[in-house]
Amino acid sequence: MIQNLHTHTVFCDGKDAPEEMVRAAVALGMDSLGFSGHAPMEPPGSWTMSEEDVPRYRAEILRLREAYAGRLEIFLGLELDADSPPQTGPWDYTIGSVHQVIRDGVPLPVDESEPVLLQNAARYCGGDLLAFAEDYYRRVGEVPEKTGCQILGHFDLVCKFNEGDRLFDTSHPRYVAAALGALDRLAAQDVIFEINTGAMSRGYRSAPYPAPWLLRAMEARGLPICITSDCHRADTLLYAFGQAEELARSCGYRERMVLTRRGFQPVGI
Ligand SMILES: [Zn+2]
Ligand SMILES: [Zn+2]
Repeated sequence: MIQNLHTHTVFCDGKDAPEEMVRAAVALGMDSLGFSGHAPMEPPGSWTMSEEDVPRYRAEILRLREAYAGRLEIFLGLELDADSPPQTGPWDYTIGSVHQVIRDGVPLPVDESEPVLLQNAARYCGGDLLAFAEDYYRRVGEVPEKTGCQILGHFDLVCKFNEGDRLFDTSHPRYVAAALGALDRLAAQDVIFEINTGAMSRGYRSAPYPAPWLLRAMEARGLPICITSDCHRADTLLYAFGQAEELARSCGYRERMVLTRRGFQPVGI
């Protein structure tokens, strides 16, 4: 079952139109493709859909579902941020993510760029990136309650610019406690975690989210995973899926979840 459920298009910050993504998926021999446009959020981001975009997005994905029936299963999803206003459904599934933390009432982007991250940590966290990470994970722990999502997006996105612990120490007890605290809170809820290769295809990281020690912690808690590319272009639909599967196996996983017409189901890795 070849599937990707984390896909962005020109409706938000992706480069290609939905139909170009669909054609690429068919050419790759994929079984199914889920679209997960960025829901509008507060404050509005340049990378999200506007409220007016959402019905057009929905109509276009549903049109493609009809047009490609029998060739590719297409799912209509949405990526909600913890700060996204609720969106009228129905959706086949939603991804819930944290892309900003709030300090002094100011939204601070998590994944915009390294200079923005450093600047905001200096200005609002006294230069303490671990404090930024602690805020981030507190919000991650709240995502399913806030969004009702079935998939938890890029669990350790706060490490996007931190490969090799360049900016902060992810073995520091404060970081470990923050990340595992979020994980324990999420373990009580019914969510699927992503192995997400999006930062790899865009050149920020050489390994997927999450870090192996976190993936092992997920496996130890019996938490389900899926594999996604968080792709923003048609040519990265299945980017590094082989590496993601290897990572999953090396951390003890033997199953991943896929979405079917009857809901999420496990398949072997
Ligand atoms: Zn995201
Ligand atoms: Zn995304």
